[in-house]
Amino acid sequence: MRQSQLFTKARREAPADEVSKNAQLLVRAGYVHKEMAGVYSYLPLGLRVLTKIENIIRNAMDAIGGQEIRMATLHPSENWKATGGWDAVDVLFKLQSRTEKEYALGQSEEEIVTPITAEFVQSYKELPVAIYQIGQKYRDELRAKSGIMRGREFGMKDMYSFHETQEDFERFYEIVKQAYLTAYTEAGLTAKVTEASGGAFSEKLSYEFMVLTDAGEDDIVYCEHCTHCANIEVAKEKEGDVCSKCSKGNLKAARASEVGNVFDLGQKYPKAFSFTFKDKEGKDQHPIVGCYGFGTTRLMGVIVEKLSDEKGLVWPEAVAPFAYHLVSLGHDGDEVSKAADALYSDLVKAGVEVLYDDRDLRAGEKFAESDLLGVPKRIVVGKEAVTTGEFEVVDRATGVMVKQSRETLLG
Ligand code: ATP
Ligand code: MG
Repeated sequence: MRQSQLFTKARREAPADEVSKNAQLLVRAGYVHKEMAGVYSYLPLGLRVLTKIENIIRNAMDAIGGQEIRMATLHPSENWKATGGWDAVDVLFKLQSRTEKEYALGQSEEEIVTPITAEFVQSYKELPVAIYQIGQKYRDELRAKSGIMRGREFGMKDMYSFHETQEDFERFYEIVKQAYLTAYTEAGLTAKVTEASGGAFSEKLSYEFMVLTDAGEDDIVYCEHCTHCANIEVAKEKEGDVCSKCSKGNLKAARASEVGNVFDLGQKYPKAFSFTFKDKEGKDQHPIVGCYGFGTTRLMGVIVEKLSDEKGLVWPEAVAPFAYHLVSLGHDGDEVSKAADALYSDLVKAGVEVLYDDRDLRAGEKFAESDLLGVPKRIVVGKEAVTTGEFEVVDRATGVMVKQSRETLLG
């Protein structure tokens, strides 16, 4: 894409109304636009990043047999009244129509996915089934100061699985946990898994996926010698305690952000909607339900918090809006701009994702903006490139520069 045609522009100054680093940088760089506290629109560059994150988790869910659907986000209040959520869920946005009818905005989708599944599943032969979607969630959060990490409207991948037996659920629970860990690694982060109470949903154990960052809102303790990790809010353990899992070290305290959460929901929702299937003996049973949330927009915010530096955003390759930022130092159709134009069209033809700064601006201004946008590799086309045929390629994260020929760049 030619930057001269990109309708968004980077700003020189950070927005005055943002306190979090992720929102300051993302707004400044033109990735997102703030509509009000906790509500953001995703602009071309931001949407490219979000779509890559969504595709990482989409592929991970498809690989373990998840079937993608798109559920309604405007929900009938009857479904929420059937489960008790209408009164019990404090973050639920409730709407009243001019016809007096009431609705809820989806904050999670058990109330929708359970009746849908009940309509199609009648026998144990049709179980297990795992259904997921990627989309918007709405929550009436009290505080929204963490930029895109805590929205009142935000992105989530939520999957729901239905099982014949508890054992079958446990089997799948473990598969999803592993798939999540791989997905976070793919997105450029390391997540730790905590054991936590099921919160509003159930008394059973749930697992939270935590990424260490001071920008998070959770306090955890973790062991450096093994994978043990616990949320202070629910754990009996505290900083300094000997690890209850490996006994090798003392627990360390850290701030973390919850980027995912998986739950054992038991039979609560099938019971509320009278969802039964015939088991092997022909008896009616309620399925066991699992629920798996993955915060797509929060994850994007956490990546910014963890990887950006004083110059701006730094994207890991897997979620970067473009692989290369091609910066031309040419002017008005001179030799240098012709060389940059030619390299740009070759890269596009080769299927490389490239943002091309073809604007007639000072080099310093272009480099500063390129650093702010955070594309992993910058190719500089200046006079030297025209004479030698070698291009300077600078790594955004490390600043390391190498010279590469056109052939190497085109792979
Ligand atoms: P939190 O404790 O941070 O409020 P939660 O436990 O209420 O989150 P879940 O219901 O478990 O959230 O939702 C699944 C995932 O969705 C979370 O792990 C998180 O990554 C993401 N998420 C939840 N609430 C928000 C929000 N307000 N803004 C952005 N992402 C969110
Ligand atoms: Mg949670």
